[in-house]
Amino acid sequence: MSERAAPFYCPYCGDEDLRPSEEGHGAWECAACSRAFQLKFLGLLAKGLQAVGTTTGTTTTGNTTTDRERGTG
Ligand SMILES: [Zn+2]
Repeated sequence: MSERAAPFYCPYCGDEDLRPSEEGHGAWECAACSRAFQLKFLGLLAKGLQAVGTTTGTTTTGNTTTDRERGTG
């Protein structure tokens, strides 16, 4: 029993003419743009285990302070 992720569309050109490549596990080739790519399952997200109900935009309130003393002149 082997779980293999099959892409429906080419991530580069969006074509559906994909065929499994023999370059390696999870490798696919696109016949439309002649690109070869590989899918890799990284793992489950920690936040995916929780019940996500609210879809709020991520507000990044980060101030990048650069402490750099620099003499002008
Ligand atoms: Zn393609």
